[in-house]
Amino acid sequence: AAEMAMYKAKQEGRNGLRFFAPAMQAHTQRSLELAEALKHAVQRGELHLMYQPQCALSTKRLVGVEALLRWQHPTWGMVSPAEFIPIAEQTGAIVPIGLWVMEQAVRQMREWDAVGLSGFSLAVNVSAVQFATPRLVEEFTRMVHDLNVPAERIEIELTEAVALRSPELAAATIQGLHEAGFRVSLDDFGTGYSSMSYLKRYAIGKLKIDQSFVKDLASSASDQALVTAIVRMAQSLQMTTIAEGVETQEQALFLYSCGCNEVQGYWYSPPLDAAAFADFARASLDPAGVEMPTQLP
Ligand code: C2E
Ligand code: MG
Ligand code: MG
Ligand code: MG
Repeated sequence: AAEMAMYKAKQEGRNGLRFFAPAMQAHTQRSLELAEALKHAVQRGELHLMYQPQCALSTKRLVGVEALLRWQHPTWGMVSPAEFIPIAEQTGAIVPIGLWVMEQAVRQMREWDAVGLSGFSLAVNVSAVQFATPRLVEEFTRMVHDLNVPAERIEIELTEAVALRSPELAAATIQGLHEAGFRVSLDDFGTGYSSMSYLKRYAIGKLKIDQSFVKDLASSASDQALVTAIVRMAQSLQMTTIAEGVETQEQALFLYSCGCNEVQGYWYSPPLDAAAFADFARASLDPAGVEMPTQLP
């Protein structure tokens, strides 16, 4: 029996596939199913947006909101964007989905505007795949024009991956968006691989400091040094900074003290549905209303 067990173990060791194949297959199978279902997610009304408030540390008030995509599948339930966005990028489904997101976000902005909620911008994530499609600037411009929302109130969040794909094309498109009035920010800053030289060439107005630098900010000297350096660099390039994933008062205090302009994270607010965001915005924009849920100097 011992011999038999050893033999089996050897066989399995030699043939690693036998050991790993089931897990890989399951992963691939789910990916394929997700990819297929994503094709119909828009028409079937399975997508919706959540809205996460962004706070200016100087005024302690709402200055922006980020639209975050959610997919509620009838049988699988909520599928995380961390799982389905990469699949949508691989299949190209992200292109129509991304257009739907922008249209939805702009419509929502107009609705809030109509009930007197203004004074903040709305950020929309645009994937590198969508960013590389032709006529993107024209499409976005037509949407804000048709819905009568100033382009200045819409911020396009890009990642460093857009520069990686094609630096020349990216530069032209970012410039086009800038000239059309849109704001452009760089998401997950510090986690990409591209050269930083694009920062001075591209019309990027804001750096979003990735949450991986924020997580241990209260205790990690190296994260404090990195964040301080990013903020200083942004300041000297006339860029705004926002820190992502801010969960605690200690993190917010450090960010305030090093000159970071804005924060986004559970500390200020989790992502909210449209109605809850409207209540949040009403309270925050009212001069006599509530400030952020804490004390800052
Ligand atoms: P992101 O653009 O960097 O968005 C920030 C993510 O951090 C969101 O995850 C948000 O829910 C989460 N978050 C916010 N505050 C906190 C916090 O205090 N702590 C922690 N740990 N996390 C926080 P979410 O909504 O799961 O989205 C994940 C990513 O999926 C986004 O990262 C973005 O890259 C992508 N994504 C979301 N919506 C869209 C979209 O409409 N289009 C595209 N292309 N990508 C999207
Ligand atoms: Mg983002
Ligand atoms: Mg981010
Ligand atoms: Mg991210």
